[in-house]
Amino acid sequence: MMGRLAIYPGSFDPITNGHVDIIERGLMVFDRIIVAVLENPKKDPLFTTKERMRMIQDIFAGQKEVEVRSFDGLLVDFARAQRTNIVVRGLRAISDFEYEFQMALMNRNLDPGIETFFMMPNVKYSFLSSNMVREVASLGGPVEGLVPEVVARKLRARVKIRKRAKT
Ligand code: ADP
Repeated sequence: MMGRLAIYPGSFDPITNGHVDIIERGLMVFDRIIVAVLENPKKDPLFTTKERMRMIQDIFAGQKEVEVRSFDGLLVDFARAQRTNIVVRGLRAISDFEYEFQMALMNRNLDPGIETFFMMPNVKYSFLSSNMVREVASLGGPVEGLVPEVVARKLRARVKIRKRAKT
């Protein structure tokens, strides 16, 4: 018995406590979750795909029901290859809605069997984005409470390296 498998796709550059919250909520509904890290060189990520994956693996170490993979190309193709039709996405605020709605309907257009499930994070994470975390960290602000400790450590190191590279 494999149980119900869902895919949670995203850039995760880096993973935040909001993402972790969605994964934990997802596990209340689905038996297994594949966190699918998008390889997207166009976005000029702060962390490489491998680094982004490693941080997520560290956070969920010992939890067999969370698996981390990378993907490229169409999400519907990746989902089919993983033999599932369930996609989980997080919804923070109205601002997420239009983009997420368009994407869910486009994915359904590409594969009518795909179902997208939206989950709302704890309200304390509803202002949180990877973007904001990168911004705060790059300006030397504290990111504790916004990201897991392993991510905070990596961010501090990365920001130091970038500063050194600039001087
Ligand atoms: P993408 O580049 O695909 O938007 P992200 O890594 O930014 O990837 O986000 C992946 C998913 O997680 C998206 O559905 C996004 O709306 C959701 N998400 C991001 N931050 C949060 C948060 N703080 N709380 C809940 N969901 C979030």
